[in-house]
Amino acid sequence: MNVLRNNLDKVISRIEKARIAYSRHQIINFIAVSKYSEILDIEKMYELGQRAFGENKVQDLKTKSQTLTDLPIQWHMIGTLQENKINALLALKPALFHSLDSIKLAKTIEKKAEGSQTSLKALLQVNSSYENTKSGVLPQEAKEIYQEISKNCPHIKLEGIMTIGPTSNNTKAIESCFKKTKDIFDSLQSEGAKTLSMGMSGDFEIAIACGGNMLRLGSVLFQK
Ligand SMILES: *Cc1c(COP(=O)(O)O)cnc(C)c1O
Repeated sequence: MNVLRNNLDKVISRIEKARIAYSRHQIINFIAVSKYSEILDIEKMYELGQRAFGENKVQDLKTKSQTLTDLPIQWHMIGTLQENKINALLALKPALFHSLDSIKLAKTIEKKAEGSQTSLKALLQVNSSYENTKSGVLPQEAKEIYQEISKNCPHIKLEGIMTIGPTSNNTKAIESCFKKTKDIFDSLQSEGAKTLSMGMSGDFEIAIACGGNMLRLGSVLFQK
């Protein structure tokens, strides 16, 4: 418990410092990414006050959320979604799906959500680093695809965009990727985009400095 408390306290003060440097008026949310964590540690993090948790696989989201059904946790799905898992994800009613990464996936989700009379809050994932190991739409297509999904998929409630920073220790490269994503986000304000999900354990302060307002933090919170 003490280790997790210490991790959480440190993370909160690091976020706060970066937030104040960016803008006193900025509001930052963070998701505790529990994909490598035991149920017991999720419960401890909950007791310490954390309410939003994220998983990158539908099966893990299902198992963990159903084990912790007594706790009013906000569950986020942050990983690549396979089409054969769409119905399972919809049934879990996640707080937010961060990784809508193609028009094709959007159309399939739309059909299934309409069929089961439900809807899904989602972020469009943008591959701002152009790394071919990463999913997402290309930056230059992002706005058009966002508008197309908003218009044609009434059962998908787009709330903003998500990106994963480049796999690199180069601060400048990370910054340039996050700035590009922030520009796309700004161009979507008129479409109602309000969430910019970027920043992980290794790069969240850079993400905050570039205007990210939702962080996805795993190891920095759960490591012992
Ligand atoms: C695992 C994961 C994270 C958290 O990674 P850490 O580096 O442990 O903070 C964030 N986003 C996605 C999409 C992930 O898969």
